[in-house]
Amino acid sequence: MRIETLRQRLREHGARPLHEQRVLRLWAQALPQDHGRRKPEDFLPEAVRAMLPAFTDELAGLARLKSEHPGEDGSARLLVELADGQTVESVLLPRDGLCVSTQVGCAVGCVFCMTGKEGLVRQVTSGEIVAQVALARTRRVVKKVVFMGMGEPSHNLENVLEAIDLLGTVGNIGHKNLVFSTVGDPRVFEHLPRGRVKPALALSLHTTRPALRAELLPRAPRMDPAELVELGEAYARATGYPIQYQWTLLEGINDGPDEIEGIVRLLKGKYALMNLIPYNAVPELPYQRPAWEKAAEIARTLHRAGVLTKLRHSAGQDVDGGCGQLRARAALPKAQ
Ligand code: SF4
Repeated sequence: MRIETLRQRLREHGARPLHEQRVLRLWAQALPQDHGRRKPEDFLPEAVRAMLPAFTDELAGLARLKSEHPGEDGSARLLVELADGQTVESVLLPRDGLCVSTQVGCAVGCVFCMTGKEGLVRQVTSGEIVAQVALARTRRVVKKVVFMGMGEPSHNLENVLEAIDLLGTVGNIGHKNLVFSTVGDPRVFEHLPRGRVKPALALSLHTTRPALRAELLPRAPRMDPAELVELGEAYARATGYPIQYQWTLLEGINDGPDEIEGIVRLLKGKYALMNLIPYNAVPELPYQRPAWEKAAEIARTLHRAGVLTKLRHSAGQDVDGGCGQLRARAALPKAQ
């Protein structure tokens, strides 16, 4: 269900743009449709009022909570069921953040990711993306939405941009608090600067070596890390918010001195923040997490060399490992 389809349905019942905005605003903010001083009978055409109960039921059915898994860090992983029975994961983050999924599965195939193992099952529609936010808001305040869950947003660009537009206009999320996270795709750098809502950008770099990047992210567009940083820098300067670079630290693979030098070469003096995220090892995959002290030393070295760096845990890592784990576990037969 695309947001444009929802708008069309409202229009067919006589809704004008203001009416559409009201219905969609209350949905995206998880408020009841009779919220506020102006009741539907004061405001909405009769045909729209008549359709509202069934319409709001349908919106609620776009994303339903299947299970919730609180983490020790204040986050909570949600396994979310879509209308056709497919499942995705959303993560309630500490400090009013929410991580949403943009695809069921993912075609990029990052070798260290459970979601990547599955391949792409289907796109998540713009309606289903906003529905994840509405669902999360029935549980907590949400002031920031990061598109870092299952899926590669640039492979589902129209739906993701439609959801960003709605969340950044009537959804009450500040533009820089919408974070489009991507492995990098030339279309992202074409389309994002044109939108009326310009999200912040997070680029998954993981290595400065093009050949290793092709191995780790086998079906990501072939963009040289230096080219990615150049395009990211232009977007950061145009929007006024820094680019966040994501780097999953894999022991013995991308945590050596050559990579540290490469990061300094690429990012020193850039309008950027490097997020180092020690890998969350899962039994199904052969990669290991470096010791925390080693990761902290890398962060300190980068800092001293002039690269703003944060060392982060991935949220809810005590809950079934990384993104895609809950869905993978839910798909296992009960006996396992
Ligand atoms: Fe896709 Fe992200 Fe997993 Fe890579 S890490 S396979 S882009 S979901």
